[in-house]
Amino acid sequence: MSEHPAACPVCGGTALIRSGHACGRQRWRCKGCGRQFTRTAPRGKPAAMKHEAVSLYCTGLSLNAIGKRLGVSAQSVMRWVRDHARGRCPKPEPTGRAVVVEIDEVWHFVQKKPASSGSGRRSSAAPTG
Ligand SMILES: [Zn+2]
Repeated sequence: MSEHPAACPVCGGTALIRSGHACGRQRWRCKGCGRQFTRTAPRGKPAAMKHEAVSLYCTGLSLNAIGKRLGVSAQSVMRWVRDHARGRCPKPEPTGRAVVVEIDEVWHFVQKKPASSGSGRRSSAAPTG
C-alpha cells in the first residue's frame, strides 16, 4: 500500500481521496481543486539545498565546486543562483545623466618622456666652442 500524501501538490489541500491506479501507483484526487496525481513526493531539490548553494556561491565558490559538493550539476546551481537573483536583486537601470558608452578598442596614451632622460645625450656636457 502507498502512504497517504500529506497535501495536494497543486493547491495544498488535505482532502484527498483514492482515485484508482496509474502506472502501478495509487492515484489520488484532491477534493479541493479536483486535480488527480500520483506523485506524492515533491519534485526538485529541497529549498534548503538551493539556499545553501546560493550561500556558497556568495562566498566565492565556483558553480562546479558547489555542484560537486551538493551532488548536483553546475547547471542546476547556476539556475538556482539566477532564480534567486532575479527575485531579489533587480537589474539597476541608469538614472539621471548616466550615459552608456560602448568601448570596442583599447587605446594607449603614451606620454612623451622629457628629452633629458634616456635620450643618449649627455646632459652635463660642457659647452663647446
Ligand atoms: Zn488540490
